[in-house]
Amino acid sequence: MTATGQANAAEMPPDQAELMLEYRAILENASVAILFTRHSKVLHCNDRFAAMFGWASPEELRDQPGSVFWLSLEDYVEVGRNAGPVLASGQAYEVERPMRRKDGSTFLCHIVAKAVNPAATTEGTIWIGEDVTDRRRAEENTRQLMLQQQAILENASVGILFTQEGKIRHCNTRMERMFGWGPGELVGRSARVFFASDEDYGRFGQQAGPVLLSGNQLDVEWNNVRRDGSSLWCRILARAVLPGDASQGTIWTTEDVSARREAQQALLRAHEELEIRVAERTAELAATNLRLQEEVAERQQAEERVMHLANHDALTGLPNRRLLIDRLGQALALAHRERQHVAILFMDLDRFKTINDSLGHMVGDALLQTVAQRLSEILREGDTVSRLGGDEFVVVLPNLDRPKDAERVALKLVEALARPFEPGGHELRVSASIGISLFPEDGTDTESLLRNADSAMYHAKDMGRNNYQFFLEQMNVTAAERLRLENDLHRALERREFELHYQPRIAVASGAVCGIEALIRWRHPERGLVLPEHFIPVAEDTGLIVPIGEWVINQACRQGTVWGAAGLPPIPVAVNLSPRQFRQTDLVDTVARALEQHGWPCKLLELEITEGVLMQQTPDTLKTLEALHRLGVGLAIDDFGTGYSSLSYLKRFPVDFLKIDQSFVRDIAVDPDDASIVTAIIGLAHSLGLKVVAEGVGNAGQLDFIRNAGCDEAQGHHISHPMPADQLVAWVANRPQPPVKTA
Ligand code: C2E
Ligand code: MG
Ligand code: MG
Repeated sequence: MTATGQANAAEMPPDQAELMLEYRAILENASVAILFTRHSKVLHCNDRFAAMFGWASPEELRDQPGSVFWLSLEDYVEVGRNAGPVLASGQAYEVERPMRRKDGSTFLCHIVAKAVNPAATTEGTIWIGEDVTDRRRAEENTRQLMLQQQAILENASVGILFTQEGKIRHCNTRMERMFGWGPGELVGRSARVFFASDEDYGRFGQQAGPVLLSGNQLDVEWNNVRRDGSSLWCRILARAVLPGDASQGTIWTTEDVSARREAQQALLRAHEELEIRVAERTAELAATNLRLQEEVAERQQAEERVMHLANHDALTGLPNRRLLIDRLGQALALAHRERQHVAILFMDLDRFKTINDSLGHMVGDALLQTVAQRLSEILREGDTVSRLGGDEFVVVLPNLDRPKDAERVALKLVEALARPFEPGGHELRVSASIGISLFPEDGTDTESLLRNADSAMYHAKDMGRNNYQFFLEQMNVTAAERLRLENDLHRALERREFELHYQPRIAVASGAVCGIEALIRWRHPERGLVLPEHFIPVAEDTGLIVPIGEWVINQACRQGTVWGAAGLPPIPVAVNLSPRQFRQTDLVDTVARALEQHGWPCKLLELEITEGVLMQQTPDTLKTLEALHRLGVGLAIDDFGTGYSSLSYLKRFPVDFLKIDQSFVRDIAVDPDDASIVTAIIGLAHSLGLKVVAEGVGNAGQLDFIRNAGCDEAQGHHISHPMPADQLVAWVANRPQPPVKTA
């Protein structure tokens, strides 16, 4: 078949001509480009070939050299050389090369050539060409894309995995490395290798399955395992390739977040530690703060305590003299500005000393505390009650409208003390003497106001105690007098101003004189005869009582012998001893010396001591009493009943007499209490083997009463007033004969 055979179809036999037409139709309509060459020239081609190479028609190509389609002659020669043997062997020669269009542009062409007759290749060659430029470009693009994707996959910083039906189909290097697998080792394995156990794998499946099926992205963090069993935390993102169809597989990206989680955990731990440290530090600070606050409070309290101690009386807690002066000063300044009055009440407990001496300091202290409490209770807030020491209290009433108001308060103070006290189980009745001074009437400064209130208080004592007195100028005179008295007392002994008066006592039954009490008097050059109550306390305070007392003992013994010489029968002489005298260590010697000096028998001397002396209870008390007893002198308890002692005390002491205080005897006929007290004292004293003397028997009725009560002896104005020594002999002479004293 040739391209030129066309014109000759009519000359052919009809069936051959028909075949010819059919071939031509095929050639013309083939969708591939077909060329027929012979002797290196174009013999024929179809339209498609001509069009593919940019020629107007097959006719234009006819007889064109075969090299016209190639880029160069060398190309052409080379292809011819390569193709020759193939064609000759009857095989198809296939080549893909850039080829040239008529206008010189090139394109990639895929050529398949076959010899018409391999035995005689000169008969021509058929070329089928295809423009593969686009296809090759597309293929190249796809390849490039594949390479890029591969690169992405391999270089990804996350592990990427493709699974299908639970099997690993593909994974990247990162994934292998992350889980400790070698290249390609994972492919074909079950994804179970990433999990610690079947249960864990199952749990993961339960969580991931529904998400993937629904087409959503799975995003979890899971604790997976490496090939060597070590664990790592992964963040896993996954999506099904085709939602709803698991068989299409799943793409997983996995990121090792162990470090991040560890960092997070560490951060969390660090945070917690920090929190703990902050909490500890906060607690420490709070504790320190608390301690500091406590210390500050303690220090404040200590300072307050010191301040309080400096300004208050330790026993009662009341303001002391210092604070009193301070407050009084303020009150005076204020009163001065506001033209008001201030009252100062100076209060002293009556006979407190006796209570202290008889019942001891503990009881005395307890009493003072209760007194302080009662005083504080009745006073108003602005008032000050202070203890100056001992049994002295001072009340300051600032801002008084009328001086009379001070009197009202004084009355209240007296009333407050009227209720019995019960310190240490003793029932005590206490009264007070109160002196009142007023600002500005009685003074304008603290010192003079206090001094004047003190004077008024002494006056209240003089007025019989248990009362209050306003200060009068006269009182200062009295105070001055007291001072003078003290001075005079110092000289009284050497000036021989003392004398003794004697008061006899009688046996109640017989009326016979059975004792004579020596009572001191002071014959003052100006004042006349001064009674002991006015100077004995001063003598006691100043200590002058010791030489005075010694003089009394000597004088009494001397007088006894004088009376004896004058014909008086031997009657015991009684001498009073003051507490201070009794405490003198040389008392026994003094007494013994006096007896010896005047030749007066020991058994005719009696010593009267007060209860307070016994109650002081020092070891020396008993020693002194026993020494006196051994000496043979009689011992009497004077003023019995006023000193709060109990009779049982007396058992221990070698005492011979009790002298019932005249205060009980005085009201014996009118006060049933006193009557029963006297009766009881007599009964109890007798049961202890003691004689009883009733003092202050002032009338026949009293004498009758004590006689009926069984009292042994009586002393008092009804029998005789105290009298000078020289009157006594005559007085005794008129009495019945005295009984002889039994030692
Ligand atoms: P005293 O020892 O209890 O003496 C009795 C006091 O009662 C005496 O007072 C006496 O005069 C008084 N008196 C006697 N009978 C009656 C009476 O019927 N009615 C009243 N109202 N009084 C009567 P005097 O002499 O004033 O002595 C008072 C106190 O002074 C004595 O009480 C005694 O405690 C003390 N005293 C007297 N002389 C001395 C002394 O030489 N030394 C000491 N230390 N004290 C003495
Ligand atoms: Mg006496
Ligand atoms: Mg007496």
